[in-house]
Amino acid sequence: MVRYSVINRKLKREIVLLKGRPCLWGRCRFCDYIEDNSPDDEGNRRLNDEVLDRVTGEFGVLEVINSGNIFELPQATLDRIKELTREKGIHTLMFEAHWVYRKQLTALREFFGTNCMALTGVESFDRDFREGVLNKGCPFCSIEELKSYFDSVCLMVGVEGQNREMIARDIEIARENFDHFTVNVYVNNTTPIKADPELIDWFREEYAWLEDYEKCDVLWNNTDFGVGGD
Ligand code: SF4
Repeated sequence: MVRYSVINRKLKREIVLLKGRPCLWGRCRFCDYIEDNSPDDEGNRRLNDEVLDRVTGEFGVLEVINSGNIFELPQATLDRIKELTREKGIHTLMFEAHWVYRKQLTALREFFGTNCMALTGVESFDRDFREGVLNKGCPFCSIEELKSYFDSVCLMVGVEGQNREMIARDIEIARENFDHFTVNVYVNNTTPIKADPELIDWFREEYAWLEDYEKCDVLWNNTDFGVGGD
């Protein structure tokens, strides 16, 4: 498993894939991120320390991801990340959290004491699709409410049941409301949620320009950030 990488374009940053406890929500229908979780906090801490030792602070921006949410990392790992921001001059820390953790974000931002960019997987702004098909558990009432907690959203593209209009609207809303967003092109996994290859082909052609759009990271494959895989 590759756990450290450098993203050299757009928002340049270092990225680490750490290990934590299983996702508290754990019910998204498309998710099978269970193999990289463990309830063993001490084992997770040791592994995370090794990965975090590689951080140089070269861009002043560090993204921390795990197969879940930042809140599932051991406290000792959060302490180490906080230390690193001081030691390596990291002015911006990026991390992911599900909607269920939204009310804990203010305290976490205060804990780190540096500029934080909280990302959340919205997947789609189409509520019926997001909640009815994907079971995302992110029932925000308005974009303003969502923005009051999170700085960046992750969208999912190319799932059976989605259509072109939904995707176009999702991209438009993300562009209008967020300084940064991520698009994940769906890749089949072990869950019953399947990719729609025709929709993905259309998206590749129609939205090829996103490749050069500064505010958006597009992951055509889920290992495009250089972490994950075997
Ligand atoms: S919030 Fe993320 S890790 Fe948790 S079930 Fe959903 S996709 Fe999986």
